[in-house]
Amino acid sequence: MERCTAIVLAAGQGKRMNSRIQKQFLELGGRPVIFYSLECFQECPFIRDILLVTGREQVAYCEEKIVRKYGFTKVRQVIPGGEERYDSVYQGLLACRDTEYVFIHDGARPFVTEAILERALAGVRESGACVAGMPSKDTVKLADSSGCVEETPDRKKTWIIQTPQVFRYSLIREAYEKIQGKDRTGITDDAMVAEQETGVRVRLSEGSYRNIKITTPEDMLIAEAFLKQKG
Ligand code: C5P
Repeated sequence: MERCTAIVLAAGQGKRMNSRIQKQFLELGGRPVIFYSLECFQECPFIRDILLVTGREQVAYCEEKIVRKYGFTKVRQVIPGGEERYDSVYQGLLACRDTEYVFIHDGARPFVTEAILERALAGVRESGACVAGMPSKDTVKLADSSGCVEETPDRKKTWIIQTPQVFRYSLIREAYEKIQGKDRTGITDDAMVAEQETGVRVRLSEGSYRNIKITTPEDMLIAEAFLKQKG
């Protein structure tokens, strides 16, 4: 079995949530949002270790109130992240040890499942880069700077991208090394870095319509409903 590391990201400020507490630590079904994705990686047999990336001020809280409290024994290190998501990912990549495949996951996506991880692993084995996503239910339009439609891509071809985003470690580490010191504005996911810097063909694997990212307050209502149904 390959040596798989999960980098779970929880260093965002969550400005769009309008809440004092960052979204990854909000309470969902009596537990912090971040608990659920950590539980999935902890229980997944092919995940060897987990790196939890969080804000500098939340490292001690995460170590004590999350990792120790819930017995997440696979969490090898809690690491301070950076200003932007890609800075946090880079800190996680630097802390990987002897890793073959790295699963980069938003801690704000509590409904990741082992089946999603399995499908992403199958994809990364084939191509070295695989991201979870779902075909877009809505028509997507590209807008120009004046707020008018520039283009309507064929809906059969548009996917909404989620995490985990899974890569051969050497490939994504090299891609992230290459963007250090470059203009990184507009980088919103890891696949973009891999596409731009290595030219790898990124595979798409099936995520789930439930694998939502908690971003704005209404997402918490949806998350509560999903959790309730799960029992
Ligand atoms: O901001 P966004 O919703 O895209 O964040 C996605 C994930 O990345 C969240 O889990 C968030 O905590 C994480 N993040 C991070 N470091 C940042 C910004 C976001 O770990 N500087």
